[in-house]
Amino acid sequence: MASSIPGVAELVAGARRLYGQVFGEEGPQVAVCAPGRVNLIGEHTDYNQGFVLPMALPMVTVVVGRETSGQDVTVVTATEDADEPHRVDFSLPSDGSPLSPGEPSWANYVKGVIQHYRAPVPGFRAVIASSVPLGGGLSSSASLEVAFYTFLQQLKPDDGDKISKAVACQQAEHTHAGVPCGIMDQFVSVLGREGHALLIDCRSLEATPVPLADPSLVILITNSNVKHSLTGSEYPTRRRQCEEAASILGKDSLRDATMKDLDEARGRLDDVTYRRARHVIEEIERTIQAAEALKRGGYKEFGRLMVESHNSLRDLYEVSCRELDELVSAAMEVEGVFGSRMTGGGFGGCTVTLLQAHAIDRTILHIQERYSGTPSFYVTTPSDGARALTLS
Ligand code: ADP
Ligand code: MG
Repeated sequence: MASSIPGVAELVAGARRLYGQVFGEEGPQVAVCAPGRVNLIGEHTDYNQGFVLPMALPMVTVVVGRETSGQDVTVVTATEDADEPHRVDFSLPSDGSPLSPGEPSWANYVKGVIQHYRAPVPGFRAVIASSVPLGGGLSSSASLEVAFYTFLQQLKPDDGDKISKAVACQQAEHTHAGVPCGIMDQFVSVLGREGHALLIDCRSLEATPVPLADPSLVILITNSNVKHSLTGSEYPTRRRQCEEAASILGKDSLRDATMKDLDEARGRLDDVTYRRARHVIEEIERTIQAAEALKRGGYKEFGRLMVESHNSLRDLYEVSCRELDELVSAAMEVEGVFGSRMTGGGFGGCTVTLLQAHAIDRTILHIQERYSGTPSFYVTTPSDGARALTLS
């Protein structure tokens, strides 16, 4: 059956206990959380300045901690899957020189956020705990960055601008984790809203909340529990191919291109570049249509667009894998399922499935039966973005 998702209070309690064990008597002063996300449709469109339609998840990263008097920073993660050691100690450079990335790699996300924080950072101690699976495509990385930024806001407030916050967290991932990600993950982790998906225009950074709280619907996330090692190298390659296609078409980004532009230029593009660009141009259009369908309760149409998105990611963008294809095919065999697709960067991670609430048990059973690996299931609802929590 579906995994139960630990509540925020439970995570905070665990983080506080660990804080006490590591730092002794004086407990944490502040607590914050920031969610992971699932993208309903609009994959590999964010770095092409297109549209995406993600929602924030009930799975969150929590940070508890306290400001200290000096320049020293200690951060401990309670997450077992993070690389060892689970504690880092470093000093904030007093001369403003950059904090360089190093080992353990998880601490680079923290260092990056400190580097890009938009106000002075004091010394502090902090503990991280999370219910977002690491490396599963639900953006534990953005939830860590945004949680950390939110933590620093409690110690020394910045101007509070939420879009600049998302951009700073994206920068952290670029410069310190070496991942040239788009803006979607950090954006929705900051600005997600309970009961809504967010249609984000990744060019203007405008976001439109789209209601998604129909009790007759369920959003099921299935983790394939595989991650192929291609992920790291393929992502920058895809980005490059998109930039190349845009430049051949004489556009700033593929957001500005139409299928007519692409077909007219076909002779000047090699086959692979053509297919990458076609995915992006059509996926941007599908995402706009899907948001419209969702607004009017057109779940069947939404589901059909999800499957089209999956097929395009599989055949044109070539970022799916056997396991994700199996999960989608199995889900689509069940009556009551509207649509299913891979979500996130690809080559493993999760699928997202939209279905009628009454079909949830048989859908999970059927996927379990048909999938060659061992899946995990999360039944999710659109949740709020990052927030400060009260410590009782
Ligand atoms: P995803 O964002 O899809 O989960 P990524 O590979 O982008 O996958 O990010 C996962 C990495 O983020 C982990 O390997 C780890 O370095 C870091 N990370 C995320 N959450 C935590 C956490 N709770 N504690 C320590 N590191 C974390
Ligand atoms: Mg990530």
